[in-house]
Amino acid sequence: MKAAVIGYGKSGKAAENILRLDGFTDIDIFDDGNAGMLNTAQFEDNYDCVVVSPGIDLKKMAKAPKNFTSEIELAHAKKSAGSAVVAVTGTNGKSTVTTLTAQILKKCGVQAVACGNIGLTYAEAVTGFDFGAYIVELSSFQTGMLNKFSADCVIVTNLAEDHMDRYADIDEYADDKIRLLNFLDENGRLIIENCKYLAEKSAVYKGETIMVDPELSGMPNLSEGVLDFNGFYVSVASFLLKGRHNIVNLAFALLAVDKLVGLKGDVTYLIEDLHGLEHRCEHVALIKAVEYINDSKGTNLHSTLTALKGFDKGVVIILGGKDKNGDFTLLIEELNEKAAAVIAYGHAGEKIYKTIKGSVRADVYKTADLEAAVLKGFEVARPGQKVVLSPGCASFDEHRNFEHRGTHFKEIVGKIKAEENERTERQQA
Ligand code: ADP
Repeated sequence: MKAAVIGYGKSGKAAENILRLDGFTDIDIFDDGNAGMLNTAQFEDNYDCVVVSPGIDLKKMAKAPKNFTSEIELAHAKKSAGSAVVAVTGTNGKSTVTTLTAQILKKCGVQAVACGNIGLTYAEAVTGFDFGAYIVELSSFQTGMLNKFSADCVIVTNLAEDHMDRYADIDEYADDKIRLLNFLDENGRLIIENCKYLAEKSAVYKGETIMVDPELSGMPNLSEGVLDFNGFYVSVASFLLKGRHNIVNLAFALLAVDKLVGLKGDVTYLIEDLHGLEHRCEHVALIKAVEYINDSKGTNLHSTLTALKGFDKGVVIILGGKDKNGDFTLLIEELNEKAAAVIAYGHAGEKIYKTIKGSVRADVYKTADLEAAVLKGFEVARPGQKVVLSPGCASFDEHRNFEHRGTHFKEIVGKIKAEENERTERQQA
């Protein structure tokens, strides 16, 4: 049997392994450099199976090959029948919800794994071990390609305009995400953000649908610190992840866990010691009663805005990096609510400075690079405030990627903390 793998990144390589396990001995690999890649006729005529990677835009092919499949479908076919699947998609929050769901399930005694678009591919997860539950993060490119799949629970965290380079409009983008409904039978559970658009799109689903309000306005006891879901509840004071959006993410995760194992009464013990992902509103240090938070994954204005909304007043925010043609006026209203100071740096620094200086009440500063920005933050932040790196820009002016930027931020903060500790020790000596 002969197979083709189009696109040879992480998912393409994982798919190749599964094909070998499935008995394909003759596998041709096509990657970017290969000029014949978009000539689909050759795939239909010459291969029994064609695996298309999510990075490949099928719409750009003259005609998508009829016999195409994806790494997700191949992996799913290999999964043992008894294991549960929670599929997570949406514009923002996917990785956080995926890892939280897996962590909580493990605390419930289920051998769960977070996989998909998040480090470990689904194919690696199903071939590595027979897990009890697969929490699969899927991008809209991955869901858009699915024909054979099934899930016990589907989560759509939210929908904002993104990837508009690949979709004609938000409707087409939404259709790819909502496609997951086709794989949820009527005994399943659909959990979506409560927005008119998603509600309309998912009305065709006849099983149980739970909507989570992004402002958590349907949660009457939240002001007392209790996240209450008819039948079970948690005290959010025990939850270590920062920002309101992460409480929303926790709600998604708990509702999925409830579908799989059934929760009752006070389940706060399940959310103690949960850890978030690095670079997403991550607590870094407390120095002279100022908390430092790394949200380097805030690479667009939508996620920076979400991060800001999640904090109380008193944020010294560091914005900047490589400008992606962002409209920084979008931040002004929230900055006026929350910012104690704004520090703009790097390639976008000048533009941010000019756009918001004079429009926000807080002091606005400009620095050349990230290190100078953090030192400025240390200088101006008062006890009780937070210094937050949530840059709203890409990282490529000074860093390799958002992980590199976040790690650099943590190093700078670490240095400041060590110097402060030394100073205190000297004073005490
Ligand atoms: P994804 O995997 O979808 O990119 P992540 O969980 O990695 O999402 O979070 C990326 C960023 O998106 C976070 O740093 C935060 O600023 C923002 N974010 C996270 N959860 C939400 C949410 N529920 N709603 C809106 N924005 C969110």
